[in-house]
Amino acid sequence: MGCAHVREHLSLDLQDQEEEVTINCEIHGQTDPAILCSHLVQAGMGQAEIKGWVQAEFDPENREPGDLMAWCTDCDKVYEQDGGWHERNDSHFKVVCELCFLAIKKHQNEP
Ligand SMILES: [Zn+2]
Ligand SMILES: [Zn+2]
Repeated sequence: MGCAHVREHLSLDLQDQEEEVTINCEIHGQTDPAILCSHLVQAGMGQAEIKGWVQAEFDPENREPGDLMAWCTDCDKVYEQDGGWHERNDSHFKVVCELCFLAIKKHQNEP
């Protein structure tokens, strides 16, 4: 499942802000950015709420800012229906810290 389009769109927004793109996370400090749908951000780590986890493919050999990206199963229906992410349906995506992203991933996959 590809999502090159939304990644370009969002990472462009990121690059507008600074040359070196990092996130200042309250928990983890300076980390790389990752992208999550707002539902997964809200579900977070502390609750038992399982939204499902659909992660975009990325190339581990060729990492770029914002290439970690995931959305919930509800969002995946929109993704399938609309044929991908674009300006009209990706506005609820949030930039989060990479370590928070991985923690939420673990939580969603191992309730
Ligand atoms: Zn979602
Ligand atoms: Zn964090």
